[in-house]
Amino acid sequence: MPYQFSCSKGNCQFMVRSSSSDEVERLVRAHVRMTHNGRIAVADIERETDRIELA
Ligand SMILES: [Zn+2]
Repeated sequence: MPYQFSCSKGNCQFMVRSSSSDEVERLVRAHVRMTHNGRIAVADIERETDRIELA
């Protein structure tokens, strides 16, 4: 089941989807570092990551 993360910082429209939660975490970390010049805790990534079913 794929994992989907939507960034909730400001008006950010970043969204990532992957079948691997590890990959989602890696991509989210890279996004936060590059776009928001900051860091994000694993707990925050997990809280904002949804499991989705493909239509
Ligand atoms: Zn963002």
